Amino acid sequence: MDSILTSSPRIGNGYDVHALKEGLPMRLCGVDVPSDKGFVAHSDGDVAIHALCDALLGAAALGDIGLHFPDSDPRYKGIDSTKLLSEVVAMLSREGNPEGSRRYQIVNVDITIALQEPKLRPFIDTMRETLAGIMNIDIDQVSVKATTTERLGFVGRGEGCEVWASALIIPDNEYKY
Ligand code: MG
Repeated sequence: MDSILTSSPRIGNGYDVHALKEGLPMRLCGVDVPSDKGFVAHSDGDVAIHALCDALLGAAALGDIGLHFPDSDPRYKGIDSTKLLSEVVAMLSREGNPEGSRRYQIVNVDITIALQEPKLRPFIDTMRETLAGIMNIDIDQVSVKATTTERLGFVGRGEGCEVWASALIIPDNEYKY
């Protein structure tokens, strides 16, 4: 029996932080961003994709990125995070996902990146396009926003990057978008 709760749209949120270090590559939303500093990480450090994966998994109540892709597993060392996002999208859409029952469509996602520098504005549309392609949705279903923290806190001091993501998903059979 379907309850109103299981037949309604579902919202999820995700959050991630990665430290910045001189001389490492910076990749955000699958896009390489020229920068003096990049992310310290077990994977490629794409902190925005990690937050997005957690938002999508959270919306489907399928755990979190650490559960599915543990950083103790050598298979994920240096991995391209776009592959993790593809996996998460597959978990939501395929029959036999980890919970075994539901298939979902992504209605929209919204990402906020807090980074002191560099300015991300020139990369935002490529980021949206890249994420939309991986998730098989339209670019207008993907929002990527960037902010500084006015030089306050660890983000403001250039020590790290902080990302929040939200995702709305709906059971496949109700998708009339
Ligand atoms: Mg991470």
